[in-house]
Parts: sequence; C-alpha cells; structure tokens
Amino acid sequence: MAALIDGARIAAGIRARVAEEAARLAGQGVVPGLAVILVGEDPASAIYVRSKVRHTRAAGLASFEYALPDTLAQDALLALVQRLNADDRVDGILVQLPLPAHIDADRVLDAIDPRKDVDGFHPVNVGRLSTGTGGLTPCTPLGCMKLLDTVIEDYRGLQAVVIGKSNIVGKPVAMLLLERECTVTVTHIATRNLPDIVRAADILVVAAGAPQLVRGDWVKPGAVVIDVGINRVDGAEGRRIVGDVAFDEMGHAAAVSPVPGGVGPMTIACLLENTLRAARRRAGRGA
Ligand code: NAD
Repeated sequence: MAALIDGARIAAGIRARVAEEAARLAGQGVVPGLAVILVGEDPASAIYVRSKVRHTRAAGLASFEYALPDTLAQDALLALVQRLNADDRVDGILVQLPLPAHIDADRVLDAIDPRKDVDGFHPVNVGRLSTGTGGLTPCTPLGCMKLLDTVIEDYRGLQAVVIGKSNIVGKPVAMLLLERECTVTVTHIATRNLPDIVRAADILVVAAGAPQLVRGDWVKPGAVVIDVGINRVDGAEGRRIVGDVAFDEMGHAAAVSPVPGGVGPMTIACLLENTLRAARRRAGRGA
C-alpha cells in the first residue's frame, strides 16, 4: 500500500510553528501583517480568501482585508497596491486571482513590492527562483516540496515529471525540483505519449486541472505522487472534489498525496510562512 502524505497534518504543524515564531516576534514589537485583496464575487475566490484570513488571524498575524466590487477601476486597484506597499504594518500583499477581465493582472502583480510579494508571482521573485537566489517562492509549489521532503531524503538524480506548465504551479515546481538536482521533464496539454513519459518518473507532480487524468498503469512502482488538482465533479452522491490522479489506482506507488487533504492545506500554511519570512527580512531579522 502506498503511504499517504497527510497534507492536513503537515500543514497544521507549519501553522503552529508560524504561530510560535509570530508570538516571539510580537514580543520584540514586530507583528507580521498580511493584506488580502479580493475583487468581485467569484464564489471559489471568496472561500479561499475567507480561509486565508481565518488562518492568518489564528496564527497571530495581522490581517488586512479588502473586498472590492468587480466594477473597480484598474487605477484604483493599482493605487491601493501602492498604498499597501508603503504601509509599514503590511509585510505581505496578496491579490486573489482571477481578477475581472477589465483588469490587467500582470500590471497589478508587477506593482506589488517584490519584498511583500508573498505569492511569489512578481517577475523579480520569478527570476530569483529560476536563478536559485532566494526571494519569495510561490505557495503551492513550496507546499508540494514540503510534502515531498517528508518522504524523500536525497533528490539528486531522480527523474521528476511535472504535468502542467502554469506560472503558478507547473513551472515554479519544476524550478524547485531542478534546484534539488532532479532530472526534470515538464509536460503539458500538447505533450505526446504522456503516459510513457510519466512511467519514467520517480517523482510525479500533477497540476493539470483534469479530473483523474493519471491512471494507475502510468505510474512506476515505488514512485512518489503529488496531486495538485482540485476538480469539482458531479457523481451519484452529488458534487465532490477529486484530484488529477486516480487515487484508488495508486496502491503500488511509494507515497501519494490525497485530494482533498494533500496540497490544498499546504498552500495557506506556506502563505503564512512567506508572510513571516517577509516580515523578518523587512525587520532585519534574518532570512
Ligand atoms: P492551468 O489551467 O493554468 O494550467 C494547467 C496546465 O496543465 C497547462 O499547462 C496545461 O497545458 C496542462 N494540462 C491540462 N490538461 C492536460 C492534459 N490532459 N494533459 C496534460 N497536460 C494538461 O492550471 P493551474 O492554475 O496550474 O492549476 C492546475 C490544477 O491545480 C487545477 O486543478 C487547480 O485547481 C489546482 N490548483 C490547486 C492549488 C492548491 O492549493 N492545491 C493551487 C493552484 C492550483
């Protein structure tokens, strides 16, 4: 039987460590603060934001929330970002994506001070990730690596296959695996012979948004499988959430992360950790 990589438990441990460190910093007069901006009424985004705010507060960080109408002008959003860049109480700024169509998301992300870019999407942080020179790392890819770290000691020379090449998951997770000296193959919708490529993987990270795309016979015995996908599907028992991996067919893997309860909770835990890191750096208290 494959070992279950319990993201909910691992994430709870990270949040507890963040809370401890935040309490220690508060004793020195530094209260890390996270500002979250939500534009419009996308129901999934609203749920994510509520959860982020709840965990931010529970960890003892300051939370600044901005729920704005979807008619908001781009210039008004850019002005808010500039205000938060200059606000000393704010260490992290997160703009919940997607933004309404009339707003250029790249322009908004580019406007965030890279030192406060806790999502790690600013070009400066993307560049730092690709050169392996620090910066703030995107939360979901960082969460994937923390899950892998619980079951892999030595990454050197392992074959890693990533399915999906998005800027928020696929590409950054590939960079992180490369940094650990894996041999990395990034695949996507136009990849030919995907099952054959996946069969070579010691590590498989799947971020495609395609329900149960990866079948059991694609996966090599002993591989480690991280499922990033979150797909809402309708079945006989109503609506449920499934990943990009056919979980029930993964018995021969060494370890697999479930959906839900795998990568999902890690994303918020890593967001809190990034906020703490940004606060420490801004306060001149280390890496
Ligand atoms: P995206 O749509 O931006 O990118 C999907 C990528 O997968 C693309 O590069 C595409 O080429 C590739 N792809 C799609 N279908 C494929 C197929 N059949 N075969 C091979 N490649 C295929 O998506 P994203 O934002 O990277 O998110 C991917 C999934 O991860 C989604 O289900 C999303 O909900 C989930 N997600 C989860 C978290 C989390 O916190 N757990 C965070 C971000 C995204």
